[in-house]
Amino acid sequence: MLPEVQALVRLQDWDHAVTRLEAELAELPKRLDALQKEAAAQAKAVAALETRLKAGETERRTLEGAVELHKSKIVKLKKQLNEAQNLTQTRALEHEIDWAEQAIAKAEERQLELLMEEEQLRPELGAAKEALLAMQKNFESTRQQALARHKAGLVEIAALAEQRKSTLATLTPQITSLYERLRKKHKNGVVAVEAVNAQCQGCFMEIRLQLWQELRAQPVLMTCENCGRVLYLHAATGFDPQVGPAPVN
Ligand SMILES: [Zn+2]
Repeated sequence: MLPEVQALVRLQDWDHAVTRLEAELAELPKRLDALQKEAAAQAKAVAALETRLKAGETERRTLEGAVELHKSKIVKLKKQLNEAQNLTQTRALEHEIDWAEQAIAKAEERQLELLMEEEQLRPELGAAKEALLAMQKNFESTRQQALARHKAGLVEIAALAEQRKSTLATLTPQITSLYERLRKKHKNGVVAVEAVNAQCQGCFMEIRLQLWQELRAQPVLMTCENCGRVLYLHAATGFDPQVGPAPVN
C-alpha cells in the first residue's frame, strides 16, 4: 500500500474515532438530564403522598375534636333530659341526642376510613422515599462517572487531533484536499476502501478490469470511478515489493 494511502486509512480511522467519541460525550448530558427528570418526578410523587398523609391526619384530628364535643354535649343533654318538664321538651332533647350520636357514628366511620388509608399510605411513602434516594444516588454516581468520562474523552480527542495534524503535514495539499473533499461527500466518513475481487467495498460497483489490473500490479493512488473513494488492496492480496505484483486474474 502506498504510504499516502496508508496515511489516508489512518486518518479515516482517527476521524471515525473522534466522531464516535463526540457522539458518546454528547450522550452524557442527555443521560444525566433523563436521570434528573426521573428523580424530580419521583420527588413530586413523594411530596404528593406526604400531602395526602398530612391532610388525612389533620382531618382525623378535627374529627377527634368534634367527637369529643358531641360526647360532652350528649352528657349535658342527658342531664337536661332528666330534668325535662314536659313531653315536647323530652322529644326535642331526645332528638338532639340522637342527632349527636349519629354525628359521632359518622365521624368514627370516617376516622376508621382515614386510618386505613394512612396504613396503606405509610409503606407506600416509605418505598417512594427509598426509590427517590436510590435515584438521587444513581444520578450522583452517574454524574461523577460522566464528568470523568468527559474529561478522558476530551484528552483522547485532543490526542487524535494531534496525530491527525502531524499525519496531514506529511501529505501533499492535493491529497489532503482529496481527503477533505471525500469526507464531505461521504457522510459516513468512509473515504478509503478495500477493493476485493474487482469490487469497490464502498459503493460495491465493479472496478474496470484495466484499473483492477493496474491496482494489483503496483501500489498506486487510485479512486473508484463510481463513488470517488480511494481504493486499496488488502495487504495479503495486494502488491508486495518483496514478492512482486499479485497475479492478475
Ligand atoms: Zn466505489
